Amino acid sequence: MLIERENEALPEGETLKKTSKIYLWAAVLCVLNFLSSFEGLAQAEPFAKDKYSQIMWNYLETLSEFGPRYVGTKGYSQTLDLLRHVGAESADDVLEHPFVITRHNGEQMRMVNIEFVFNGTATGRPILVGAHYDTRPFADQESDPKLRDRPIPGVNDGGSGTAVLLGLARYLKDHPVDQPVRLMFFDGEDFGKSGSSEMFIGSSYHASQLEKLPLKQRPQAVLVVDMVGDKDLEIYKETYSMRSGPELLDRVYAMARRKNISQFNEKSKYSIQDDHLPFIKLGIPSVVLIDFDYPYWHKVSDTLDKCSPESLGVVFSVVAGVLAEW
Ligand SMILES: [Zn+2]
Repeated sequence: MLIERENEALPEGETLKKTSKIYLWAAVLCVLNFLSSFEGLAQAEPFAKDKYSQIMWNYLETLSEFGPRYVGTKGYSQTLDLLRHVGAESADDVLEHPFVITRHNGEQMRMVNIEFVFNGTATGRPILVGAHYDTRPFADQESDPKLRDRPIPGVNDGGSGTAVLLGLARYLKDHPVDQPVRLMFFDGEDFGKSGSSEMFIGSSYHASQLEKLPLKQRPQAVLVVDMVGDKDLEIYKETYSMRSGPELLDRVYAMARRKNISQFNEKSKYSIQDDHLPFIKLGIPSVVLIDFDYPYWHKVSDTLDKCSPESLGVVFSVVAGVLAEW
């Protein structure tokens, strides 16, 4: 992804207003919880978060062991095998969307998006949850020029979103939700130089395919997860997402509040170009969940030791909760 702008911090009054709002919310939710327990509506977590945290962590370890995972590498083929395997075990259907791109130098390259289909029981348009599975071929944020040509391990950037989607696939198999869901694994998000047209390749391709479909067959909302494995997780509201999908963001942050998850920060901080943008251009409410405060971004030091199962677990828990209650 590309960072475009870091927002000014909110004035202190604004922060206080938000804080008191949060307390008010917490009080309202406590009362609601109390009341609903009498009606037998209060449920224990519908899933064991720790179980899925461990499952996702195992996937992240595996992806880390694969090494760099961009088109043409061994790790890329291994990742595709893993996605196909989990998809076959978990999803109602697995769709492959291969495509060919012509690079700026005329070279042709074959890429593929993988889609897990969960039909659900409800009618209506699906929710698309997406993540890129490719990793950046060069560490262009390194200060040492000798390192800038090296590929990044992409454990957080590329790995964490993939692991969360694989965890969601396992969860949706074990706990089917009514809402139709598509888990999309995008290729080529991080392939090209910053500012070139060779970024967000898979998501742009998928949006171009959706554009050919009648409106009722397109997703009603898109939720992208990227860089969500950081041990020191803090997810601010991203500004394109705030404009495009305020209702979806509200669902996400309300779920985080209900689950007492403090890693979701109600403030906005960054404008980030990521896989949500092609869908925003299509008019679909689209949101990215991303923690951009990650010192190892696009560096060779984006490794497993910077991530934690807890961080994967809280993002999973929020997204799974949102899907289950849609
Ligand atoms: Zn990246």
